[in-house]
Amino acid sequence: MAVHYRTCPFCEATCGLEVETQGREVISVRGDEDDVLSRGFLCPKAHGLKQLHEDPDRLTTPLIRRDGELVEAGWDEAFEEIDRRLSPLLAEHGKNSVAVYIGNPNAHNLSALLYGPVWLRALGTQNVYSASTVDQMPKQVSAGLMFGTMLSVPVPDVDRTDHLLILGANPLVSNGSLLTAPDMRGRLRRIRERGGKVVVVDPRRTRTAEAADEHHFIRPGTDALLLAAMVCTLVDEGLVELGPLAGHVNGLDEVLACLTGFTPERAAAACGIEADETRRLARELAAAPSAAVYARIGTCTQEFGTLASWLVDVLNVLTGNLDREGGAMFPLAAAGQKNASGAGGKGRGVRLGRWHSRVRGLAETYGELPVACLAEEIDTPGEGQVRALITVAGNPVISTPHAQRLEDAIEGLDFMLAVDIYVNETTRHADVILPAPEPLEKAHYDLALYQLAVHNVANYSPPVFEGELPAEWETFLRLAGVVAGQGPHADLQALDDLVIATLAGREVATEGSPVAGRDPGELVAELEPRRGPERLLDFMLRTGPYGLTLDELERHPHGVDLGPHKPRLPDLLRTASGKIELAPAEIVADVERLRAVLERERNGAMVLIGRRQLRSNNSWMHNLPALVKGRDRCTLHVHPDDAARLGLEDGGRAEVSSAVGSIEAPVELTDGIMPGVVSIPHGWGHDASGVRMNVAREHAGVNSNLLADETKVDALSGNAVLNGIPVELIPVRAAVSA
Ligand code: SF4
Repeated sequence: MAVHYRTCPFCEATCGLEVETQGREVISVRGDEDDVLSRGFLCPKAHGLKQLHEDPDRLTTPLIRRDGELVEAGWDEAFEEIDRRLSPLLAEHGKNSVAVYIGNPNAHNLSALLYGPVWLRALGTQNVYSASTVDQMPKQVSAGLMFGTMLSVPVPDVDRTDHLLILGANPLVSNGSLLTAPDMRGRLRRIRERGGKVVVVDPRRTRTAEAADEHHFIRPGTDALLLAAMVCTLVDEGLVELGPLAGHVNGLDEVLACLTGFTPERAAAACGIEADETRRLARELAAAPSAAVYARIGTCTQEFGTLASWLVDVLNVLTGNLDREGGAMFPLAAAGQKNASGAGGKGRGVRLGRWHSRVRGLAETYGELPVACLAEEIDTPGEGQVRALITVAGNPVISTPHAQRLEDAIEGLDFMLAVDIYVNETTRHADVILPAPEPLEKAHYDLALYQLAVHNVANYSPPVFEGELPAEWETFLRLAGVVAGQGPHADLQALDDLVIATLAGREVATEGSPVAGRDPGELVAELEPRRGPERLLDFMLRTGPYGLTLDELERHPHGVDLGPHKPRLPDLLRTASGKIELAPAEIVADVERLRAVLERERNGAMVLIGRRQLRSNNSWMHNLPALVKGRDRCTLHVHPDDAARLGLEDGGRAEVSSAVGSIEAPVELTDGIMPGVVSIPHGWGHDASGVRMNVAREHAGVNSNLLADETKVDALSGNAVLNGIPVELIPVRAAVSA
């Protein structure tokens, strides 16, 4: 029996796990009591690690479509097929004829984070899409415009705050999102035990709301109005107090001017929160010794996602709670931190909209286009039409809006390649599928998520099992070779040497870097004999703010505690002014769109929202028996008053129709949802033919994205509107047999 300490790769919480193995068998998965961040906590999803390891549906060999069927093939054969099909398309129609979709699991994948950009650069397409634009992109846009980089997202200092206001997030179930914080139940409980307060604003009375001091229902899509009304209250009552932030802020007067008129009374009609309650929320936020406003997916995947995300940090600034203990703080990660140190708080800021989508003209953000326009880029003929698609660990047919249109569009592609562990609803359309190693066969380090952690830590997990497949980074480099015109048998070691040499060359040329001016060749030699992602990670750790090495992390299998957050202003800022831009011009210009909502007549239509579930994060998890057993969880939550009015019954079925689609779902009555709102969880709908996920098929559920309208996006980020979708509901009567 062997014991391994691993970071769980399944969600943003990065819990430490203790994995017992015998040979290639996983005996047990437990929480690692000594993990520096999670201290033994784990959620039910962690047990999926064993079931994923054992899953007979997981792909272990490439598949190639022959005579309409996906059949097993060798790796050379698969890459030769990719080269044969993809290279002529690139030559004839150009690089933008190939679109790429990057799925959410890439954020947890060291090889994907380090080598994904390599093959994407080699491909050079502007048609890059990802799960970010059905998720957190609005927050990254607002943070970029305010603080200067896409990664400068402040996180609530949950462990020291006195007051936490949560909007559109369910951290008891998610364990944090854009906030890496395992055991949020314990962390929220401790806020209350030390005399603090937790307030939740959400159209659902979530598990987090039940564990809070207060919960307020809010109409989906109106969070920005509530937050603007809270700003107005602070101004009217003389409660704006920037404290030490005062010297670091540009645009205070502009913010206060552009939000004039968003009174609590005017917001109340739209939000469904009484004006007096809004004022009280603002006063309590201002009066708390320390406080943080935290908002997540419900505030992002809506019409005013960027405005809501911006207003969260406007409130954190106006109450003096940004960058202070117990407020909203900026983590300092050991590696991968683009805003770590050096330039004394100045930079170039972010540039958005460097190109636009061909059909609708939606703007690029951080190198990608909104996935809401992927289908039209494929199915609209003309110069620049997308003719091939590469998906990496993604299932956009399930996870992106107007799913049926995207599915139809994908069927018309000239070529599709998928890098994936399953034949899922999207990859079933592929011409070639390249399998990826399971998590236990690869090294793990959360490059992205430690930049959002509630406490600074670093934790590296070596592979538990020797890989039975080629390493993922080798697959990505081989793909880079194909799209760069080197054919299917590129020299991977030479390419990898080029990757580290490029990284080292850039670092020694960076002002303020600890290795500035040194010989990059010498630095690379110091990393011997490491190769691949471990070599890159080692280099990034050595040149990071703590000067760690991978050797050191390997000596600490439970992780290294790098301490609580410290104030980081102005050093972390990368705006051109070197100040917090409280009133970015793009955002201020969008405020008038929000103002128009104050006048909007409510038409009484029902609206649909999603919901996060403890045993689910990505659609692929539905193929793990431990995570889908028990009662049907893909149900339509309806308030009893709405059900009585609409003739719906608990346990019955409803037809739910939107502007773009119609589905049927089982009805579950609950007073935990706001009247006028219904909810279906995302990620379901596994009954399509050709999908090779046999457990998921038994628990198919319905795809809520068949109802999401791809034409509805947040104006500034292009993020899809997945919450607040107008729907009609009618009961489905059981057929009566003759
Ligand atoms: S909370 Fe997330 S990281 Fe922690 S055990 Fe569950 S799935 Fe894994």
